[in-house]
Amino acid sequence: MQKTVIVGGGLAGAAVACFLSHSGQHAITVLEQETLCGVHASGRNAAMIRQIVPSESLAALCREGARYVREQPDFPVDFQRHGSLFLASDDGWQSLRRSAERATLLGVDCVIWSREQCIERVPVLAEAAFEGAVYTASDGVVDVAGLLQGFHASARSRGVELRTAAKVTGIVRKNGRVRAVLTDDGELPADQVVDAAGPWASDLASMAGLARPELRPLRRHLYVSELDLTVDPSWPYVWNLSAGYYFRPESGGLLLCCCDEDLSPPCTPETDPEVAERLAECFARWVPALAGHAIRHSWAGLRTFGGDRGFVLGPDPRLEGFVWAAALGGHGVTCSPAVGRLVAGGFDKPELCAGFSVERLLL
Ligand SMILES: Cc1cc2nc3c(=O)[nH]c(=O)nc-3n(C[C@H](O)[C@H](O)[C@H](O)COP(=O)(O)OP(=O)(O)OC[C@H]3O[C@@H](n4cnc5c(N)ncnc54)[C@H](O)[C@@H]3O)c2cc1C
Repeated sequence: MQKTVIVGGGLAGAAVACFLSHSGQHAITVLEQETLCGVHASGRNAAMIRQIVPSESLAALCREGARYVREQPDFPVDFQRHGSLFLASDDGWQSLRRSAERATLLGVDCVIWSREQCIERVPVLAEAAFEGAVYTASDGVVDVAGLLQGFHASARSRGVELRTAAKVTGIVRKNGRVRAVLTDDGELPADQVVDAAGPWASDLASMAGLARPELRPLRRHLYVSELDLTVDPSWPYVWNLSAGYYFRPESGGLLLCCCDEDLSPPCTPETDPEVAERLAECFARWVPALAGHAIRHSWAGLRTFGGDRGFVLGPDPRLEGFVWAAALGGHGVTCSPAVGRLVAGGFDKPELCAGFSVERLLL
């Protein structure tokens, strides 16, 4: 049996464990440095399932991930299928239309909405500036903790071992291939290491003696407003791609974001009060009806991107047995099922994976 060690117990690592365990051909251990899984991006996101995206390869993963969340073949998970409403203006609107056309070809149920339709569904958009809108009924908001737990529980039911408070500190290689990983507790033999270490993914590559690809952890804040009785919990999430904001119903109020992106070292980020000012300015300018909302609580998380903003998935050609499942950026909730399936499938469809290979970031 092949010994596989997955480093990172977030959505990427958990999904790979879940799908890899289906074959029954691997002895799998997931190592997570924190005492709980989901402490980092996988527990700090906006939980939105999104199928309208600008790149073709990503669109296929989003579509497959969204289908998994809707159909729930492995475990039940709460999914509020209230749809998404993407808004844009000028060049952004042309690009959104193209993304929607591509998604339609993939079978996504997106439709162009008039301004009147948008306002009827989400009345706070009455004074909002935007040129065009795309509504997708099959998007929505998933219970992220349930999704993460589901992957882990499903994997454990097929013999996968999860060790928390288990930080990987080194990777042993011999004759051009992976042999073991080192932790504070000692050495664990491994034929294959899956790098699902989120913002620390390139540190792990360094431990294996590999030159680091460029990965960029970008901090983003989310805010939850006080209770607001004018919010209808069945609103779709609304995302204006040109203005750079999104909002959706959350806990009787709204979850708000001004799409901030600030480069950060890998860490557990603190909130920055300056971004709260940006948020207030953003909503005052673009959605006056939502200006001045009192904020109940806020947090920040890291979205980690490849240098060209793409995912990094699949075997590393420089070291046999080193496999990437990293840089899921702002799409890791939606795509985690597809990423898990793709990475676990051994990359037998090269045409699907070429765009995600680490090689492109090493040139
Ligand atoms: C504010 C915000 C909003 C977002 N909104 C959405 C959204 O609405 N929809 C969507 O699809 N996506 C969204 N995302 C993106 C999504 O959350 C991420 O893409 C996804 O969670 C990444 O999962 P991951 O497992 O790769 O990384 P992580 O969740 O960061 O997990 C990596 C894990 O590896 C562990 N680790 C690292 N190094 C080691 C080591 N040496 N040893 C052992 N363990 C180690 C870490 O402790 C961590 O738990 C959002 C992200 C943020 C921050």
